[in-house]
Amino acid sequence: MRLLVVEDDRDLNRQLVAALEQAGYAVDRAFDGEEAFFLGETEPYDAVVLDLGLPKRDGISVLTEWRKIGRTMPVLVLTARDRWSDKVRGFDAGGDDYVAKPFHVEEILARLRALVRRAAGHATSEIVCGPVRLDTRAGRVLVDGNPIKLTSHELRLLSYLMHHTGRVISRTELVEHLYDQDFDRDSNTIEVFVGRLRKKLGVEIIQTMRGLGYLVAPTTPGGT
Ligand code: CA
Repeated sequence: MRLLVVEDDRDLNRQLVAALEQAGYAVDRAFDGEEAFFLGETEPYDAVVLDLGLPKRDGISVLTEWRKIGRTMPVLVLTARDRWSDKVRGFDAGGDDYVAKPFHVEEILARLRALVRRAAGHATSEIVCGPVRLDTRAGRVLVDGNPIKLTSHELRLLSYLMHHTGRVISRTELVEHLYDQDFDRDSNTIEVFVGRLRKKLGVEIIQTMRGLGYLVAPTTPGGT
């Protein structure tokens, strides 16, 4: 999953990015409204953390414009104070949730997990595909009840595929959602990661759709 953090307070921006990267996300950052708008317009983020008080262009205007041009990624709004009028403006502009400053980073993480999950159509914090269980809260993967040790890249890859079960995901899409802007991207490495992931999982839940990409089939409720 790839996120955008928009916050002009450099220390806070750095703290947020560090915590999100630690939690396994690929993260891009913006420090003013113009940069934020451009990134959100051109890059496919799985969610955005958006401060409202920004230089060059305020957060409400950025969000309103994103929605107007059809950008639908979940947006978590940061409000400067616990002011009800800021929250209302945030929701009216197309925000999905908000957190008032000062906040605990754990709350941001929990709300983002929920936003990303719900945007992908999952109601609970656990996603199950056959024998594989992804605990999005703990960032843990179990196969037949046994924990599997994955690198952060492998976890990010599996997490993206499992969030989007039933849909063929191209390598380009994976590259766009697994790496931040500054990463030296190469879609050939995806194949290598998928190979390693399959070996570690030991079960075949990732299908290769020749020439198209990868597919993880959804588990039907009540099935195995
Ligand atoms: Ca600010």
